[in-house]
Amino acid sequence: MAVISGAEYIDRINQLKSEIWIDGKKVEGLISNHPAFRGIMKSKAELYDLQKDIKWKEFLVHKDNKLQKEYGMSFLIPETRNDLAKRRKATQLWARHSAGLMGRSPDYMNTALSSFAASVHLLKDQKNCFPENILKVYEYAAERDFSFTHTFVNPQKNRSSLAFLDEDSTNARVVKETKDGIIVKGAKLLATQGGITDELIVFSSPGPIDAAEAHAFSIPSNTEGLKFICRRSFAANGPAYDSPLSGRFEEMDSVIVFDNVLVPWDRVFFYNNKEAADKFFVNSYFAPFTLHQIVSRQVVKTEFVLGLAQLIVETINISEYQHVQSKVAEIIKGLECAKALLTQSELEAAADQQGVMVPERTPLYVAVNMFQEIYPRFIEIIQLLGASGMVTLPEQTQFQAEIGEKLEHYLQAFEVGGRERVGIFNLAFDLCMSAFGSRQTLYEQFFFGDPVRLSQIIYHSYPKSGHVSFAKQFLDRK
Ligand SMILES: Cc1cc2nc3c(=O)[nH]c(=O)nc-3n(C[C@H](O)[C@H](O)[C@H](O)COP(=O)(O)OP(=O)(O)OC[C@H]3O[C@@H](n4cnc5c(N)ncnc54)[C@H](O)[C@@H]3O)c2cc1C
Repeated sequence: MAVISGAEYIDRINQLKSEIWIDGKKVEGLISNHPAFRGIMKSKAELYDLQKDIKWKEFLVHKDNKLQKEYGMSFLIPETRNDLAKRRKATQLWARHSAGLMGRSPDYMNTALSSFAASVHLLKDQKNCFPENILKVYEYAAERDFSFTHTFVNPQKNRSSLAFLDEDSTNARVVKETKDGIIVKGAKLLATQGGITDELIVFSSPGPIDAAEAHAFSIPSNTEGLKFICRRSFAANGPAYDSPLSGRFEEMDSVIVFDNVLVPWDRVFFYNNKEAADKFFVNSYFAPFTLHQIVSRQVVKTEFVLGLAQLIVETINISEYQHVQSKVAEIIKGLECAKALLTQSELEAAADQQGVMVPERTPLYVAVNMFQEIYPRFIEIIQLLGASGMVTLPEQTQFQAEIGEKLEHYLQAFEVGGRERVGIFNLAFDLCMSAFGSRQTLYEQFFFGDPVRLSQIIYHSYPKSGHVSFAKQFLDRK
């Protein structure tokens, strides 16, 4: 199988019949027909179809010459800089399909799983660790072109540094070991696209937690007792003209509840091992691999934001104003910095002893942490440029009604009629002001972790002593 089509993806997820709760009801029937999921599932299916398209296949599919098999490019464990470039191009090709708005295109978690598979040596001979299971899941998933969701963080009950003393924790924990596997009970914070992926990867992120909460595993989305509890849907189900983005790319976020879920032994990566949870997360290739995918996508998203900002400038003819130029230039600077940092991570990539080519992580950490700050500013810039245009938005039905002719005339812009102008601003509204757009901003600020703590990682890991010596030299100069 190895590389699937969109129809195969949809069919497989429909057949899972995972336990998904939304709007007070369990989803019954085909999930791909549900208004909250059909847009995103269709968009995801389009990505899979691109892999089958002869025009794009060479960019999206890699051939394993040893096994004589084809796999999705995001399962490629890079061995050369050229492999990194191939991964980047594949990510960006998919990202262009959603303007970078699908944070969880399948390549994101496939990359994470590949990073785990490339790092299994770190778990070898460690207590309660099963690195061979990571490799088996990786091979199984690549073979079937799976997509994954994941949940790493514990529920937001008590974030005090003393929270680990809480005796009434709601965190997912191993409550029993049986001959068949571990039994997990409790909750995890959230999983984007929960219920519309083949599997769920659970991984305890580092921190002061109880050993019973320190585990990692992968299970099918329809595992008994596993519940995906969704927030309200931000998917627009009206015409694409009115909501060009939220009808297609709303990914849904769900709380994960484990109701005494049996995780079979062959799916356990590690359990009851706090040290493994801490060290594997930090020392594995999770950060450099996934950040390389993330920044590749964010470059495309910034290109889209830049294009949209300039489209607004041209639509209402405001390019002569210096502050307008400066605002667009802010986006250009963000884009060029992200591109440069991505290139730098590939230029400074180094092969490890296993022959895995690992992108340099510092430029990528800097890029993602920078994006957490500048993306909200990009959104503000579009609002500042668009001004009232962001709300003078009659729906498609109004243009089709008797009043439509007047709207075409009175809502005209510099060189386009009312209908076209409103279409452009609908795009801006959906990116910046709809529930979907606001969630996009929150997503870029948090999905890879709290920006405050990410900048602490940069601070602590950056080699600074050479720079201190450099500065000190000037104290001694006569
Ligand atoms: C749209 C969206 C989608 C997401 N999708 C997923 C997903 O698919 N899978 C997944 O696993 N996770 C997902 N996440 C979760 C994401 O990983 C977390 O949001 C992120 O790690 C921050 O954790 P938190 O939300 O619990 O914030 P908290 O840790 O609760 O932080 C809340 C506030 O308290 C401050 N704070 C808390 N603790 C500290 C501390 N120790 N030091 C300093 N300041 C502190 C923070 O700076 C912040 O201002 C998603 C998040 C969002 C917003």
